[in-house]
Amino acid sequence: MKPNILAKVQRRTNRYQKRAGMAARWLSYEMGQTQPWVYPHRMYIESTNVCNLRCVMCPTGRQEIVRKKGFMDFDLFTQIVDEMAPHVEATTLHIWGEPLLHPRLLDMIAYCRDHNLRCEISTNATLLDETRALGIINAGLDKIYLCLDGVTKETYEEVRRRASFETTHTNIRRFLELRNQHGRTRPQVNLQIIQMSKTQAEVGDFVQNWTIEGVDRINVKPFDSWAGQVDEISSLQTENHDGLLPRYPCPNLWYHVHIYWDGSLVMCDRDFNVAHPLGNVKDGVMKAWRGALMADLRRRHVNDDLAEVSPCNTCKEWAWWKPAPFHAQGNRPDNTSAIEISPSNGNGQDLGDHS
Ligand code: SF4
Repeated sequence: MKPNILAKVQRRTNRYQKRAGMAARWLSYEMGQTQPWVYPHRMYIESTNVCNLRCVMCPTGRQEIVRKKGFMDFDLFTQIVDEMAPHVEATTLHIWGEPLLHPRLLDMIAYCRDHNLRCEISTNATLLDETRALGIINAGLDKIYLCLDGVTKETYEEVRRRASFETTHTNIRRFLELRNQHGRTRPQVNLQIIQMSKTQAEVGDFVQNWTIEGVDRINVKPFDSWAGQVDEISSLQTENHDGLLPRYPCPNLWYHVHIYWDGSLVMCDRDFNVAHPLGNVKDGVMKAWRGALMADLRRRHVNDDLAEVSPCNTCKEWAWWKPAPFHAQGNRPDNTSAIEISPSNGNGQDLGDHS
């Protein structure tokens, strides 16, 4: 068989294996398995926790993240991808921090592409000049979130402190042009606004203004209080999510794996300071993800014994999704807040984002 046919067969086999894994994962979750027999569905990799902005809704921007700053070592990154690419559906290359600051971001994207791992980034687009834009398009990124909170200069610069409204607009427009000029449909472009008190009045105009050629999706992202850990951030919320649902075990612990730049495994990005350490993936992602600390955390969720577990004990965002046998769409309470402009270019799955 020719090499490209072999590669196609391999890709298709991987896809079927991943789909079959959904039902097994759901079963594992429903059974409350503390050491799941399947792999997580999606991966979140923090390329860096350094950021150039000081956004008002972000723990990084507000200097609430006190753990060490740094950039993921490329060897650690390849080790993670080598282990997980055959099993997970996709990965982000961001959690906290601005991914465009990572000096080897393009190599990371290309490495994912070469290992058939869908990857995406969320960026504030302030550094997305022409060179970086072309680099990203050519490296094979699958999805990009361009985060632009506001329609007016006043709102945008009030929310995205240290950013320039004009520069970010120019970068985004140029990025759309370049993708078009190169005849590419990837990366899928998501224009994003976070719904909060400072942006609420501009959401309608935002959707209207960005319903243009080159934008595949407009993402009106629900406000994330980050488990209510920072009062100044919580005060930006537009709705009160108190008393949503009777608590059930957080699906994150069965469906997702979150890895910080230094290899720390965390329950999810809401544990932005690693308040509840869960080990390190340097000796293997699955070794840590199925390890004793994760098993104990899952057990606490199953038994609703979370009084001592920060930030799960103050979190309300866990209720944003509940998995089903063949479906694990997550990270938003209401799917109507994503407006598809070119659905054929979408892949129907959101990894969520917060940049
Ligand atoms: S309960 Fe909240 S903080 Fe805990 S893992 Fe789930 S989403 Fe994260």
